[in-house]
Amino acid sequence: MKEKIFLCSICNINSGTCLEDCKFCSQSVRYKADIERYKQKDIELIKQEAISARDSGALGFCLVTADKGLDDKTLEFVCSVAKEVQKVAPQLRLIACNGTATLEQLKELKNAGIKAYNHNLETSKAFYEQICTTHPWSERYETCQNVNAAGMVLITGGIFGLGETQEDRVSMLRSLASLNPTSVPINFYHHNEALQLQPNPLTTDEALSLIKLTREMIPNAQRIMVAGGRELMFGERQSEIFEYGANSIVIGNYLTTAGREMNKDLQMLKELNLQIATSVK
Ligand code: SF4
Repeated sequence: MKEKIFLCSICNINSGTCLEDCKFCSQSVRYKADIERYKQKDIELIKQEAISARDSGALGFCLVTADKGLDDKTLEFVCSVAKEVQKVAPQLRLIACNGTATLEQLKELKNAGIKAYNHNLETSKAFYEQICTTHPWSERYETCQNVNAAGMVLITGGIFGLGETQEDRVSMLRSLASLNPTSVPINFYHHNEALQLQPNPLTTDEALSLIKLTREMIPNAQRIMVAGGRELMFGERQSEIFEYGANSIVIGNYLTTAGREMNKDLQMLKELNLQIATSVK
């Protein structure tokens, strides 16, 4: 029987207010990208998005905040959102993605019903300094270690197409493997003209081979997820990502860019005769 595909929906519960300088990120206030910015999304809107995600077959629902890390106020907000979402859509598996987090903060999220935490390494340790100067790669790695220590499901991955070398990609995948993640989201840089980075130079064939490489280098991960940049990177060839080892995708919109309409993705899976996962270990 074919592998089932895990669908995840992301909800930007705070957007575009980050003070950090990650060069690929339009949510940094430094680059003045033309995106929606708000401190706290209305809870009724979040609940509607959760219900819509569930009804479209999503199992994962990720609460994302755009900041370097958690502070008391954000932690309280994320926990309260998690509790409200569970009331209306208890079938969803809640994920939080809130930047740097301590073990204690993660335990609080876990107590609020959040099962998994996503924090990406983004790129290799060596290349990271060219991508971000306001916080170190080691903080990212430590947060992932904290997730494991808190007994939460670790979701960690990165972004390709930032100008990194193949050596950097291999190095990042090695670092990810050392953290033993359950899910590895891989993103492909989606250029925004407000950002200083050059557009993503990867070809579709190169991007497909990076999915394969991720699968090969992190064989214990239950899921290799193709997340941001899927439409732009793969266009008409999106269905090929599953042949190269992906078994999870983000459906609906991304954080600051529009995704494909959910029904197009559902139609694609149907045509490929791929079933949607309704539970995970
Ligand atoms: S810390 Fe996160 S939200 Fe802030 S600029 Fe970097 S990637 Fe974007």
